[in-house]
Amino acid sequence: MPFTPLHYPAGYILSKTDKRLSLPGLLVGSVIPDIEVPLMWIFFPGIWDHLLFHSLIGVFTVCTLLAVVITRFIYPPVISLVFGVDHAKLAEACRVTPTMIVSCMLGALFHVLVDIPMHPFNPTLWPWVPPNEIIGSVVLFFGEGSILVGFTRANTLFSVIMGVLGVLILVVNINKNLWEEIWLGYSTPRDNQDLTGTNHSSNEI
Ligand SMILES: [Zn+2]
Repeated sequence: MPFTPLHYPAGYILSKTDKRLSLPGLLVGSVIPDIEVPLMWIFFPGIWDHLLFHSLIGVFTVCTLLAVVITRFIYPPVISLVFGVDHAKLAEACRVTPTMIVSCMLGALFHVLVDIPMHPFNPTLWPWVPPNEIIGSVVLFFGEGSILVGFTRANTLFSVIMGVLGVLILVVNINKNLWEEIWLGYSTPRDNQDLTGTNHSSNEI
């Protein structure tokens, strides 16, 4: 993994580097690789619990495909239901377009890239390079000779960094329509809402 939701800040920050990127695509893509972990525990116990979905070949194929389907069909109703974000805006943001597909792929790719230094084994180049031949640099640096100690410390470091970034994202957006900003990547300015809660575009006469 580490803890999957902690990948959120990477997707959010990435979305701010280029306005054409789709935040929903980046976010869904950034959690997709970890759905293989419980599946591996259940169906293939005893072998690597990170494998195809944490490999580059998996990122560019099955992860991207799954992320596109989930972004298009599951993200809008779930985010609308749970966080009350306008469904029409979500549906518009989750249309299947070339940039949405690229965003899904980048989200999954960044998940794998963030995992690499933090993990004791990495199937990045699987099936050509065995996972145990790529040991995370942070794991080695903090391990003092023990992979387990290194992994625990790397995990803690990752959680702290991503947790702080997550809080910063919340603080920076606290005066905006928070859930829109968090799940759409943009929000309707509060200044444009009158006391009845109706939104008015600044272009309106
Ligand atoms: Zn992972």
